[in-house]
Amino acid sequence: MTEESPALYVVPTPLGNLADMTPRAVDTLRRVAWVACEDTRHSAPLLKHFGVSARLLAAHEHNEEAAAQQVVGLLNEGESVALVCDAGTPAISDPGARLAARARAAGHRVIPLPGPCAAVTALSASGLAEPRFLFYGFLPAKARQREDALRELSDLRHALVFYEAPHRVVETVGALRAVFGIERTLVLARELTKLFETIHVCPLGEAPAWLEADANRQRGEFVLIVSGALPSADDGEGERVLKLLLDDGLSVRQAAKLAHAITGAAKNALYDRALRLRESP
Ligand code: SAM
Repeated sequence: MTEESPALYVVPTPLGNLADMTPRAVDTLRRVAWVACEDTRHSAPLLKHFGVSARLLAAHEHNEEAAAQQVVGLLNEGESVALVCDAGTPAISDPGARLAARARAAGHRVIPLPGPCAAVTALSASGLAEPRFLFYGFLPAKARQREDALRELSDLRHALVFYEAPHRVVETVGALRAVFGIERTLVLARELTKLFETIHVCPLGEAPAWLEADANRQRGEFVLIVSGALPSADDGEGERVLKLLLDDGLSVRQAAKLAHAITGAAKNALYDRALRLRESP
């Protein structure tokens, strides 16, 4: 890359399946002088596999500022640098944002390559109909902070995308169920692109039992996606439909079931609302 002005290339790498490395990613890594990576021991075999002979420098969360200065120094000397993380797209729940900001602030081009990302891979197969999603990444590890974070998200109509590690997945799914209720849909996308890839879709209420039923289901890396908040039973539409159905002589149970099918609002909430309407119409 000596003929062009130097640049910082942001290069995604496979989540597990080496065939997901794009030709452009390979070509870029082969042409740069330096590759900044989270863990040089982790990336070295991958780079070797693709015939990359660039020198490696470490850029992880504990040295990102110093690494950014080093990268800017290399760019100033006319050397192009590629940034990779252990797997997937740099700067997505991974280091990289500071490197990109410092390189751009120093007047250099930051060139992103499209490629593997666990969140987008999971979303693409989720089957969720929400037109919008919110990428959250990792929730706080402490129960209280995690619950506060989830409460802030609970009324959003967006699909919510979380990352989780195997040792916390049971706890996190329990917290999702406790805060979001049993009716919203959970997509558990595990070990994407790998041998034991599993994509399980179920109501949140059933998810803890599904995970507990087989220890293997708790292994590996996870993307958890929760469908957006259901419309409220108390909004005008839910109440209007319930009243029509109750006036037509349907039981509370039947009215709640049909109103759920018509409005998409949560069944339990509609049932409670129908009970209250029956008592005081
Ligand atoms: N930068 C990466 C990306 O673009 O997806 C994410 C890095 S983050 C440190 C690691 C987390 O991503 C894992 O804990 C897991 O939640 C998710 N992840 C990575 N690889 C995955 C895979 N093959 N299947 C499911 N989730 C994965």
